[in-house]
Amino acid sequence: MSAPTILSLGAGVQSTALALMSGDHGYGRFWDASARCNRLAHRVALGFRQALSDEMQVDHLCRNRICVRPDHLEEVTQQENIRRALPFRVTR
Ligand SMILES: [Zn+2]
Repeated sequence: MSAPTILSLGAGVQSTALALMSGDHGYGRFWDASARCNRLAHRVALGFRQALSDEMQVDHLCRNRICVRPDHLEEVTQQENIRRALPFRVTR
């Protein structure tokens, strides 16, 4: 596997330990230096604004998976996340 590409620092992210990288399925990843692991960037971004439940998913209201703007993100159930994504699914 190739090294992750560092795209930019996330807007509104205070910690210098976080770098936004391209990850699986187009979702951004933050490298968390203190925990020494990758975290889903959009979950980290919304986590700065509100506490997140492990059972809940974070939906991109703008449909852009790399986006980390908290005002473009909403915590929803998995069922709701799948329901919202259906109109955007590409069929071949
Ligand atoms: Zn967005």
